[in-house]
Amino acid sequence: MIDWLVAAVLAVLVLYAGLPFVWTRGLGRACIRRTSKQGCVALTFDDGPHPVYTPRLLDALREAGVKATFFVIAEHALKHPDIVERMIAEGHEVQVHGYRHWFVPLLPPGLTARQCLGARDVLARRFGIHPRVYRPTWGACNLATLVFLRRAKMSMLLWSVMVGDWRSTPPEELVRRIVAKLDGRSVIVLHDSDESPGAERGAPENVIAAIPAVIEEIRRRGYTFVLASECE
Ligand SMILES: [Zn+2]
Repeated sequence: MIDWLVAAVLAVLVLYAGLPFVWTRGLGRACIRRTSKQGCVALTFDDGPHPVYTPRLLDALREAGVKATFFVIAEHALKHPDIVERMIAEGHEVQVHGYRHWFVPLLPPGLTARQCLGARDVLARRFGIHPRVYRPTWGACNLATLVFLRRAKMSMLLWSVMVGDWRSTPPEELVRRIVAKLDGRSVIVLHDSDESPGAERGAPENVIAAIPAVIEEIRRRGYTFVLASECE
């Protein structure tokens, strides 16, 4: 009896959490990982807004004249609405990373909906925007996520360039890693907060310092910058 119960629980876990992970992260189905046109690169930032790092990152982007996409945590956005308003005013795109930085695969359907649709609705109401791109926290979703996104006509954007910037890494090393993976359809993910589980304190300092050289290399190759909604 116990054996059957264990087997049934495992089967449900595989179907609900395991297969959607393989389907998206492994096979690239039901999600986008690269921009839609050669020569277009998307610069994206997850986990913010953060009261210290995000404004300085926005300064760096303004200095360079580049528009980026911020996949924000709705709870942080509500805590720092002025920063989100600045993102929007300066032409950046605000999309959905979650309501909180939770691990989605093991959430029940109700909390899963809160992470994608709930966070989207909160951002829409508070900031008068219409987010329609979702990047699940840690890039990990479950079966309910796929159903909800499909019904709501939202897309899931993952990435093609990820370099471990949530750990304190010297800026020149971050630049080296990004440049090594960069191509004409890259979706680059970086992080503008060190408050998410697993992040090292102060790590975004290095991201901010690396940004000018990363932008310079993207421009040197003749690529243009696109936003998340342009990758659909
Ligand atoms: Zn994240």
